[in-house]
Amino acid sequence: MPPHYDAIILGAGGAGLMCAAVAGQRGRRVLLIDHADRPGKKILISGGGRCNFTNVHTAPDRFLSANPHFAKSALARYSPQDFLDLVERHRIAWHEKTLGQLFCDGSARQIVDMLLAECAKGAVELRLGKPISAVEHDGSGFRVTCDGAVATAPKLVIATGGPSIPKMGATGFAYELARQFGLKVVEPRPALVPLTLGGEDVLFRELSGVAAEVVASANKIAFREAALFTHRGLSGPAILQISSYWRHGQPIAIDFLPNHPEGWLLAEKKARPKASLRRVLGGALPERLAEALAERLGVAAELGNVTDRALTEAERRLSAWTFQPNGTEGFAKAEVTVGGISTAELSSQTMAAKKVQGLFAIGEGVDVTGWLGGYNFQWAWASAHATGQAL
Ligand SMILES: Cc1cc2nc3c(=O)[nH]c(=O)nc-3n(C[C@H](O)[C@H](O)[C@H](O)COP(=O)(O)OP(=O)(O)OC[C@H]3O[C@@H](n4cnc5c(N)ncnc54)[C@H](O)[C@@H]3O)c2cc1C
Repeated sequence: MPPHYDAIILGAGGAGLMCAAVAGQRGRRVLLIDHADRPGKKILISGGGRCNFTNVHTAPDRFLSANPHFAKSALARYSPQDFLDLVERHRIAWHEKTLGQLFCDGSARQIVDMLLAECAKGAVELRLGKPISAVEHDGSGFRVTCDGAVATAPKLVIATGGPSIPKMGATGFAYELARQFGLKVVEPRPALVPLTLGGEDVLFRELSGVAAEVVASANKIAFREAALFTHRGLSGPAILQISSYWRHGQPIAIDFLPNHPEGWLLAEKKARPKASLRRVLGGALPERLAEALAERLGVAAELGNVTDRALTEAERRLSAWTFQPNGTEGFAKAEVTVGGISTAELSSQTMAAKKVQGLFAIGEGVDVTGWLGGYNFQWAWASAHATGQAL
């Protein structure tokens, strides 16, 4: 007889570890399987090695999903404070960086160790480094084959994440399983990802390494943060955020002067009629960017010799500069995936599949994607907690 468990969880990332710990501590016999040789690999590289483990401003409107209401229940039942309490119980020092983002003072390794300690408290059995060759369902329970060994359970949790950063072991396995069990998948696409520039915009690649605070907008959503020019296009927090909302073929708009009131250039003309646009912009923006923008605006004369109309038009363009990205840097560089297992298939209370008795899906594999800044881990913890309590 193959070993029998109350639940088998596939994927030992943030969501799988949390779910296993919660269920194990509720007395469930849990097997947690991952094909990687170590658990929580994405946690280890997250937040520049310090793991931005949650965001105090977590709210449902900071998540993208075909059903914007889906995440509400789980997020309300497991809050950033709940995770912070856990972090503090493990005496992990932390700090708030900007915009409500909480990081470890030390290392992301502390978060993985904490989750492993919680799993150990729940006597979770961990099986690492072996590929899963088959997942079957015979109507009453699940049978998972891993490296020739079979395990069975009446409950199965899909926690294998999304395909972002395949070199970390990320796969589309969650979607394959979902399809195998007849669950719909919302088309996955890379998110929190740099955008690439082509055509006329290609000239901006010369600015590689230049950063500025901007407002980036697309599809009526705007983010005010830093943007960074790269050798392939645009990156930086403002661009990563807007990339999740951007669709192929659409433009994005950049306000290069978010701190300057309307009519600023006309006021400068009065105050400094002998100054060039390039010099005036140089006071507001990095020198190389000021030079490139002034050149593209074609305003070379001293401000005093430029018509008010031309200056007003220049200011309008500077506050809504249009880029036409020709793509993204893809899953290889995406922090997360937008789309995934359709929320229409799942209970928002427990993440249980409506059609398949005993099947659950949590974390990034589900069509819920957070903004940059700790929101994605908060979704992983909250969805995992909801399922952990239902197993
Ligand atoms: C570079 C980077 C930095 C990030 N920084 C942050 C941050 O600071 N804050 C934040 O909130 N979010 C951050 N994220 C996003 C965050 O890492 C994810 O949202 C989160 O890890 C999702 O958790 P998960 O458990 O659903 O999936 P994952 O963490 O991806 O875990 C899935 C697990 O399943 C395993 N798996 C996959 N396929 C298979 C298979 N076929 N068989 C068996 N096992 C499989 C994987 O090995 C992995 O261990 C970052 C992402 C990246 C790439």
